[in-house]
Amino acid sequence: MSFILQGIGVSEGIAIGHAHLAAPSALEIIHYLVPSQQVEKEIARLNSAFSVVRKEFETLQKSVPDGPARAEFTAFLELHLMILDDPTLSEAAHTMIAETYCNAEWALSQQMHVLISQFEAIEDAYLRERKADVTQVVERVLKAMMGHSGYLPVAPKHAGDSILVAHDLSPADVMHYKQHQFVAFLTDFGSPTSHTAIVARSLNIPSIVALHHAHQLMLEDDYLIVDGTQGIIIVNPDKSILDEYRLRQGQLELEKKKLNRLKSVAAVTLDGTPVELYANIELPEDMQQVKASGATGVGLFRSEFLFLNRDDRPTEDEQFEAYRTVATEMRQHPVTIRTYDLGADKSLNDAAQVATNPALGLRAIRMSLAEPKMFHTQLRAILRASHYGNVRILIPMISHAAEIDQTVNLIKVAKDSLRDEKIPFDEQIQVGGMIEIPAAALSLNIFMRKLDFLSIGTNDLIQYTLVVDRIDDTVAHLYDPLHPAILWLLSHIIKGAKRANKPVSVCGEMAGDKRFTRLLLGLGLQQFSMYPAQVLTVKDQILKSHMPDITPLVCKIVKADRSDKIKALLAKLNN
Ligand code: PEP
Ligand code: MG
Repeated sequence: MSFILQGIGVSEGIAIGHAHLAAPSALEIIHYLVPSQQVEKEIARLNSAFSVVRKEFETLQKSVPDGPARAEFTAFLELHLMILDDPTLSEAAHTMIAETYCNAEWALSQQMHVLISQFEAIEDAYLRERKADVTQVVERVLKAMMGHSGYLPVAPKHAGDSILVAHDLSPADVMHYKQHQFVAFLTDFGSPTSHTAIVARSLNIPSIVALHHAHQLMLEDDYLIVDGTQGIIIVNPDKSILDEYRLRQGQLELEKKKLNRLKSVAAVTLDGTPVELYANIELPEDMQQVKASGATGVGLFRSEFLFLNRDDRPTEDEQFEAYRTVATEMRQHPVTIRTYDLGADKSLNDAAQVATNPALGLRAIRMSLAEPKMFHTQLRAILRASHYGNVRILIPMISHAAEIDQTVNLIKVAKDSLRDEKIPFDEQIQVGGMIEIPAAALSLNIFMRKLDFLSIGTNDLIQYTLVVDRIDDTVAHLYDPLHPAILWLLSHIIKGAKRANKPVSVCGEMAGDKRFTRLLLGLGLQQFSMYPAQVLTVKDQILKSHMPDITPLVCKIVKADRSDKIKALLAKLNN
C-alpha cells in the first residue's frame, strides 16, 4: 500500500531505498553483532541486568507501605518477579545470543515479542492483558543494560540504498551510524536543532524528524522516497512518482557538482567584503569532508563526541592525538576546540541520574568546573596540540563571568604543568567564549573583556531566549530564529563585538542555512561556521550578495515588529 508521511525535514535532498527499522520495541534497541569470543561476556551482561532488576523488585517488596493498596502492589511485584525468573525469557535469549551472536538487548527484545504473541493468543481477557507486564519487566531489564554497549550496530541490509527508520535516537546513537552507508535517516522524535538532527545533518544525507508514528507504520524493507527538503516520505510509491523523484534526484546531484567549482574561490561579496567560512566537526574523521568543502578553518570542534559511546574517559594522549590530527591537517588555519559540552542530551555512559531539567543543569562548562581533574586532562591535551597548528580554546555555555575566570585559571595551571615537564605548547593560545545564553549576550561587555573571541551558538541562544526545548518537536513551531528578540540579540552581539574589535562568528545551525546568510551578513557577520556539506551553498549565496543592497533591508528587518513583515522582508532580501 502506498501512503505519505509528513515530518520536519532537517537535511535536504532526495533518497530512494528500503526501510531498515532500527528498533523492535518501545525502547530503542540497536542490533549489533558480538564477536564470537565475547558471547559468554554478553550472556553474563544479560544475567547481571536480570540480577539488578531482581534486586530492585526485592527492595521494592520490602518497602511496600501499609495501606489499602498493599495487597495489590505486593501481588503486582510477585507477578513481575515471576516473569523475571521465568526461564522462557532468559534461556531463549541466551540461546539466541549464542547462536546468532546478537547483542543481549536484541535477544531479549526478540524473546519479549515471542512471549507477547503467546499472550495475545490466550482467550481469557485478564491473562491476555498480562502481556503488558511482560513488556514492563523486559523494559526494566533493557534499561538496566542501557548505556553499556560498546559495539557497532549491524550494517545496512541493502548496501547502497538502506534508509534508517528509528523511533528515537540519542546523538551518541547517531554517531554509531556515522560509519554505515545509510542513504537517509528518519526518526519519530526530534526537532531541527536537536543534537540528533545536527549529527544526522553532518552525515550529509536527507533526514526527516518528528514523524511521530513512522516507525510503527512502516515495515522492514518498505520501499521509500525521502524528500528531506519538504519533510515528506512516500511509502511504496507508484512507478510514475518514483520516476519523477529519480529525475529530481539527478538534477540535485548536478547542482551539487556545479557547486564544487567554488571550492577554491574566496568567499567575498560582490562589493568586496571578505567572509571566512569555517567547518563544524565532531571527530577527526570529519576532516576529509572539511578539506573537500574548502572551509578555511574549524570554527567548532564539538570535542564531547570523543567522550560518547564508551564506558571509560579518553586519556590525555588519545585526546591529544585527535586534536593534533585536526590542527596539523588545517595547517595555519584556525582550529577552534570547544571544551566538552557534556550533559543534557549528550551524557556519558556512566552519567548519574538524569536531571529534571538537563538543559538547565550541570552541562558544558558547569560540568567541567565541577570535575576539574577530567577538565585538566582535556586542557593539557588541547594545549599540547596547540604546538602543531593554530589552535584556539572555546568555552561553552558561559552564564557567569566567574566561569571564564575559573577556566582561565585552570588553563594557567595546565600550562604550568606542561612547562614543568618541558612539553611545548602555544603560549599565546586564544580563549573564546560561546554566547548562547541570554545572560551572556546581555552582559556582553563584562564577558568580552575577558575573552579573545566570541562564537554565537544560535541553537541554544534561541532555546534559552524563547524557552523552547530544542529537542521537543511538540514546540518546534515556536523555535523561531526570526523572533524580534533573537534578531535584536544577534545584532547586539555582533555590533558589540565589532566595536570592541573582538572576532565574532556564528556556529549554530543558522550559519549553515542559506535562508539566513544575507541576514547575518547584513548584521555585520564575517565569520560563519557550519557543517562541511553546507559550506559551498553558503559561499554561493555570499558570492551573489551586495552589502549596500543588504544592509538597509536588514536594518528594517531588525526594527520590524510583526512576524509577517519580517518574513516578507527576508523574502525580498533573498530575492
Ligand atoms: C549552539 O548552541 O548553537 C551550538 C553551536 O552548540 P550546540 O549545538 O553543540 O549546543
Ligand atoms: Mg550550544
